[in-house]
Amino acid sequence: MTKDLMENKGLDDSCLGDSGLLRELSYIDGRWVRADSGAVFAVLNPADGGMLGHVPDMGATEAQKAVEAAKAALPDWRALTAKQRSGLLKAWYGLVLDHADSLARLLTAEQGKPLAEAKGEILYGASFIEWFAEEAKRVYGETIPSHKADARVIVTREPVGVVAAITPWNFPHGMITRKVAPALAAGCTVVLKPAEDTPLSALALAVLAEKAGIPPGVLNIVTGSKAMAAEIGTVLTTHPEVRKVSFTGSTATGRLLMSQAADSVKKISLELGGNAPFIVFDSADLDLAVAGAMACKFRNAGQTCVCANRIYVQDGVYEDFAARLAEQVRALQVGPGTQDGVQIGPLINAAALEKVRDHVADAQQKGAQTVCGGAPHEAGPLFFAPTLMTEMDETMRLCREETFGPVAGLFRFKTEAEVIKAANDTSYGLASYLYSRDLGQAFRVSEALEYGMVGVNAPVLSAESIPFGGIKQSGIGREGGRQGIEEFTNLKYTLMGGLAG
Ligand code: NAP
Repeated sequence: MTKDLMENKGLDDSCLGDSGLLRELSYIDGRWVRADSGAVFAVLNPADGGMLGHVPDMGATEAQKAVEAAKAALPDWRALTAKQRSGLLKAWYGLVLDHADSLARLLTAEQGKPLAEAKGEILYGASFIEWFAEEAKRVYGETIPSHKADARVIVTREPVGVVAAITPWNFPHGMITRKVAPALAAGCTVVLKPAEDTPLSALALAVLAEKAGIPPGVLNIVTGSKAMAAEIGTVLTTHPEVRKVSFTGSTATGRLLMSQAADSVKKISLELGGNAPFIVFDSADLDLAVAGAMACKFRNAGQTCVCANRIYVQDGVYEDFAARLAEQVRALQVGPGTQDGVQIGPLINAAALEKVRDHVADAQQKGAQTVCGGAPHEAGPLFFAPTLMTEMDETMRLCREETFGPVAGLFRFKTEAEVIKAANDTSYGLASYLYSRDLGQAFRVSEALEYGMVGVNAPVLSAESIPFGGIKQSGIGREGGRQGIEEFTNLKYTLMGGLAG
């Protein structure tokens, strides 16, 4: 890290607490390293375009080295007792908590979300390290009544081996710990490729893992620009020593990685895109529904996989709900995430802003009404004004694709059957929400929704203790909960024969 970098961009000693968390090198086999070519790419602050640093622009060669390092570290790591691995993870967890404020500042600097949300993400991410440090000790097997008189049947769970983890920019801390913590807890070693836009949070986690005493080669980080992602990804999905690919990101990339991993038949987990319906019935508590829609739609400037994308409101409460929501959307504070009171930060990059702009323009052309917002915001080139649109319909792009921005689109419906059909009419199946005070309706509709997760009168679903994940083209597998560690294990059945006296 260079001194002038820190001075230039406000990530100075006082900001990061002289923690050494800002690293401009990748981490392979316990060493902080450059790309073989010496190439680097810049990490920018989306709030002001300021340059935060340069990290190594790695490719296939470094990815291979990282896999070799993970392979070499595997025997000793998996041979530790669960309690020993748990202890190291707890030490890592403690260090993340100790540095939560600095990690949050770093996260806001590279990702843009408001500081309070960034702090929330650090604590959320840390909770997975704590949870899986505990779960490491509970990877239970079972014995099964034997089918032979002279034999016994034992089923155990073993670590899958080397894991490749590929993560997105929207939760640059939490999406890493949700994969890496259970993998390490299970006895696997990991090669992680973070997103180009947000590598600094990943490297900061590695600084703390090293400090916690996690041995060399157990966690490796290969940074790369978008131009190198496919090259790194090809190694991680085809290398014979990689036994599991765990990916969070878009459905398009997930589909590609799954096909690449097919040749060597790797175990795979995919946490992909969503297109969440948020249904408000006439029977809803409208105060709760409006507050829920605000939390669900505008968190992280609308850039979450579980964000409400299509807000369906029943005829009887449509006008009232729209008016109340408009009041709150207009009141949202937009600006850099470091500024007090800001609720909506910048979008991650220019492509993201263009997509949001296109979705709004498409809806406007097809007859949607813009109640507020609808255009970029004066706070800077990557800011978009919090937007509310009404009279949306299924011909609009916002109805079919993830918008990933601060745009709430309201769809009107009349009957329960009609809204269930509309809500399920998508290739996605991650999160869904419904607001109703009618218990029968809450059960009927939640059971009819083809989604991995349903929030009934509840807008925020994720926690370390629950199995998070989607169905259909939103993914395969679950993160968190007791299921989260099982994803990184293989079952082994042992038949102990010849036991007759
Ligand atoms: P993305 O473009 O698919 O990128 C995700 C990761 O994959 C990044 O690290 C990216 O690297 C990498 N990547 C891209 N192409 C690759 C390739 N050919 N081989 C290997 N790696 C490749 O997705 P994103 O735009 O960053 O993230 C937003 C998406 O993630 C949304 O669809 C969102 O819904 C989804 N998401 C899902 C969950 C969930 O739990 N289901 C959680 C968060 C986000 P570069 O950044 O360098 O291109």
